[in-house]
Amino acid sequence: DLFPRDRSTLCLKPRPPVVTVMGHVDHGKTTLLDWLRKTSVAEREAGGITQHIGAFSVQLSTGERLTFLDTPGHAAFSSMRARGASLTDIAVLVVAGDDGVMVQTRECVDLVRSAGVPLVVAINKCDKPGAEPERVEEELLQCGVQLERFGGDVQSVRISAVTGRGVPQLEEALLAEAELNAVMGDPSGPVEAVVIESHVDRGLGPVASVVVRHGTLECGAVLVAGRTWGKVRAMFDERRKPMREAPPSTPVLTVGWRDLPTSGDNCLQADSESAARSMVQHRASTPARLSGVRENR
Ligand code: GDP
Repeated sequence: DLFPRDRSTLCLKPRPPVVTVMGHVDHGKTTLLDWLRKTSVAEREAGGITQHIGAFSVQLSTGERLTFLDTPGHAAFSSMRARGASLTDIAVLVVAGDDGVMVQTRECVDLVRSAGVPLVVAINKCDKPGAEPERVEEELLQCGVQLERFGGDVQSVRISAVTGRGVPQLEEALLAEAELNAVMGDPSGPVEAVVIESHVDRGLGPVASVVVRHGTLECGAVLVAGRTWGKVRAMFDERRKPMREAPPSTPVLTVGWRDLPTSGDNCLQADSESAARSMVQHRASTPARLSGVRENR
């Protein structure tokens, strides 16, 4: 069966939240993502070079995990949403403590609000002498962000993405937000995932990184995404370490695709290769509008 399981039979368990980092240009999104990646327990153990596969998992010393989408900025967020993939559980709004609220900060607030995604504010660059976090929080309030400090429910954390100060508190805030919003997934049953990005690897052929939503992905699974399919013959994490299984919220690089799936595509497990093949044939012969496949361009 290629259709998502009956929602009423889901056996939900807490899973790591999938987090998108947003904010005005130069406010420190990339620097924060780099710091987060560096502080993962797994990363420190591996000590190697991280490949960008569009998402990465941070393991805290408590064992808890967070998944971050690697492409900062609202372009990625809105294009994924436009394509129907509601992958983001929590948005982090990065605002530089010296610059304060800028045009894109406001755009991010509007976007996140219209998507109904919970928000956590990170006031960055607090190491700078010119940083004025109190003023920034007041500016945010003026844009309608109801911060806890003013009696609202939006958490705000003061950080420096350069020194790492406050980042553990940000991670704590994200875990608390995930718990509050009951971020859950069903690790059993057929896999449902979202394609983050894909490319042709010189040695491996077409590869796609996906983030699992439900089910647990294992080698040998047959996946359908858009108008292509593949039988997963190898799986890697962002350190190119082979993976045996990928439970909900895990980013994973999958090998074995016939063609390149498109980022934002929903990805479903099929019972067999022949079922996948006929599903793709059906989709190819049906106008996108009717088959439920979104046009890529
Ligand atoms: P992005 O455009 O939002 O991804 O911003 P970047 O991460 O590229 O950061 C823009 C500039 O701000 C870079 O020169 C960073 O080194 C600097 N920067 C980022 N975070 C901090 C911070 O916490 N403190 C200081 N002093 N500089 C920062």
